[in-house]
Amino acid sequence: MKFNGIDFDTYFKNYPDANGYFGKYGGAYVSDDLKKAMEEITEAYFTICKSRRFIDELRRIRREFQGRPTPISHLERLSSKYGNVQLYAKREDLNHTGAHKLNHCMGEVLLAKYMGKKKVIAETGAGQHGVAMATAAAYFGMECDIYMGSVDIKKQAPNVARMKILGANVVEVTHGLATLKEAVDSAFEAYAKDYKNCIYCIGSVVGPHPFPMMVRDFQSVVGIEAREQFIDMTGELPDAIVACVGGGSNAAGFFSGFLNDPVAIHGVEPLGRGAKLGDHAASLSYGTEGIMHGFNSIMLKDENGEPAPVYSVASGLDYPSSGPEHAFLHDLGRVTYGVADDEETIDAFFDLSRMEGIIPAIESAHAVAYALKLAKEMGRGSILINLSGRGDKDMDYVIENYGIR
Ligand SMILES: *Cc1c(COP(=O)(O)O)cnc(C)c1O
Repeated sequence: MKFNGIDFDTYFKNYPDANGYFGKYGGAYVSDDLKKAMEEITEAYFTICKSRRFIDELRRIRREFQGRPTPISHLERLSSKYGNVQLYAKREDLNHTGAHKLNHCMGEVLLAKYMGKKKVIAETGAGQHGVAMATAAAYFGMECDIYMGSVDIKKQAPNVARMKILGANVVEVTHGLATLKEAVDSAFEAYAKDYKNCIYCIGSVVGPHPFPMMVRDFQSVVGIEAREQFIDMTGELPDAIVACVGGGSNAAGFFSGFLNDPVAIHGVEPLGRGAKLGDHAASLSYGTEGIMHGFNSIMLKDENGEPAPVYSVASGLDYPSSGPEHAFLHDLGRVTYGVADDEETIDAFFDLSRMEGIIPAIESAHAVAYALKLAKEMGRGSILINLSGRGDKDMDYVIENYGIR
């Protein structure tokens, strides 16, 4: 299928290009030391990850450890509450550890094992990426250092406990504001010093090449499964698909299965408290081109051109940019990027829980909220939502801040 001059039959061969660019977005803007490390990972990715042995082992892990394939559920009661459009959910909340993140973490750590690395390094904000990494490291018997700001360590006690139980070493980062940005800096620093023995695992389709490509490819299992399952269930493709976008990994993997189909694709960004800078994290909707964390993309900047402070009720979507491939698909118009605010999201959180018996992660509830708005607009047809994770981690927060609705 051709779209605005891009041939989607050969899309995955051409994007990203050899230097990691999706059009003008992407690349690897890092120090010379890290450049060498990135080249090592890129080379290993292209040889090891395409080998029969690697692919077979990852398939077995997905089936026997992660519990894949995850099902698609027809949300019948929710659909009839909102009209004639039939809503469906791809159940990444049923993936082991309760979210899509394990899809790329298992791939990244399996690659580390094949490369002969002894230790994996990662940063975490809310702790979700840290828990997924600690899980993968435990599975493969690797050392695991998770860098985390002291502010986040206090806020995210249950996830810190999980990481420790899983055997990970939680490294407290105390400088600056002691949150995610400082944790990223410290993790990169540690990695640059010891990249021969370690691998750094990024938590989304962001960072320098090859991570946006590699994480997308590991997440593409979601889109491949979903397309086949939906056709099996209904005999046709969905009219529209919807996923929430923070860094953009669950969306990138899910979308990849449908880019070459006549399907409307929607990414949903968090509008938080509103459209004022600082009140949201809708980078593709309100941002401009810029470089941060080693890649060129669309980002929210403050008056000095630095990454702006961002806010969302969903800590997993709280990031001032999105992956370069999303910036590319945004400019191209192949994917429509819209928003859902905190209030709509919390309403959708309760709607899905009450009508379907599925408590979604607040991140995923953004996709549900947007799908409900889209259903009203469409009037008929079908929408497939990627339910990126389960909401157990969010229940206390929702009750404390919003009460029972
Ligand atoms: C981390 C997280 C996200 C956001 O990450 P992406 O890379 O944008 O997918 C979304 N949903 C859940 C459940 C998460 O844990």
